[in-house]
Amino acid sequence: MRKRLRCVCAAMRLFLKCFRLSRRRRVKLFHRVRTYWGYGKLCANSLIYNSFTNSDVVLDSLFEPIYWLVDHVTRWFGVGKNDIPMVSICRKCINPKPARTHHCSICNRCILKMDHHCPWLNNCVGHFNHRYFFSFCLFMTLGCVYCSISSRDLFVDAYLTINTATQTPAPTITFRERAFHKCIIYLWVLCSSVALALSGLTLWHTVLILCGETSIERHINKKERQRQQKKGRVFRNPYHTGKLNNLKLFLGVEKQSHWITRVLLPSSHPPYGDGMTWALPATFSMDKTILAI
Ligand SMILES: [Zn+2]
Ligand SMILES: [Zn+2]
Repeated sequence: MRKRLRCVCAAMRLFLKCFRLSRRRRVKLFHRVRTYWGYGKLCANSLIYNSFTNSDVVLDSLFEPIYWLVDHVTRWFGVGKNDIPMVSICRKCINPKPARTHHCSICNRCILKMDHHCPWLNNCVGHFNHRYFFSFCLFMTLGCVYCSISSRDLFVDAYLTINTATQTPAPTITFRERAFHKCIIYLWVLCSSVALALSGLTLWHTVLILCGETSIERHINKKERQRQQKKGRVFRNPYHTGKLNNLKLFLGVEKQSHWITRVLLPSSHPPYGDGMTWALPATFSMDKTILAI
């Protein structure tokens, strides 16, 4: 008790001392405190400052234990509100998140079986429009390749005409003809470039579809594969049902004629499943329910 009283008295004495200080000394003290504060701030910033961090990241980190708790409690119950079979909780929407669903920070909502956010379409590519996106890429590539091959002779002629016109002292072609030839060259170069770029993208998506993965799952599965490999286990993608089956599921092919009516011709049939559960159709050889991870 005495010790405490002594401490309080010492604090009071120090406070009174500060109060009794002359104005000049008070200003001096204030400057010193400000300098120390500046040094301390600089030291803290040098040690912990991260240019990739903002207040959102800090808040997310602080809420991490709560997320963990909610995540595990809801997983224990199994089914969230509206009876949505989920595997986790979205940290942004604070809503149940089914398997293969991811949050898009640009669209600011959760996307079922999200593949990626396409800046060209200004929309997310997910469960309900993935097939349209793939068909668009594939047919656009085929169109550009057809255009490039069929207009190759036209391009060569236009290119040679323009080149000889620049080399000869007296040009024999008119301004209109020159503009026409330049348009053909532009058309061919544009078509060929788009064909090259899109064929790469289409090929990549074909590989992903054949493996039963989305672009996001490719990265997740790669990390999981490496993690399991370190433990001496083999990772198996639960959504991989064989290459042909994956392609059929993706394109919605249930019988032979669908390759023409649903793949070759434009079709508005919905994708297989609701995007929340991933049970295989009864016609498939692997007739077992895929459990959410
Ligand atoms: Zn979300
Ligand atoms: Zn998006």
